[in-house]
Amino acid sequence: TYVIALPCVDLKDKACVDECPVDCIYEGDRMLYINPDECIDCGACEPICPAEAIFYEDDLPPEWKAYEAVNAEFFDDL
Ligand code: SF4
Repeated sequence: TYVIALPCVDLKDKACVDECPVDCIYEGDRMLYINPDECIDCGACEPICPAEAIFYEDDLPPEWKAYEAVNAEFFDDL
């Protein structure tokens, strides 16, 4: 799955939302989140992000690895 990391926090550009073919990018209070159960790994959102906040899970920089759980846990609360 793709993951949104720290650069999105308090930015929320939302360019990715229009790009996602399955509408699996959701808005939270401070950042956007990708639903790992809905993402089809198409990669369309990654290059469009002006903040380069989106990564394939295996390509997350180590310091942002925690965002994999941050994205997933947002949907646990819904
Ligand atoms: Fe949506 Fe594709 Fe990005 Fe997954 S990789 S969040 S399906 S645009």
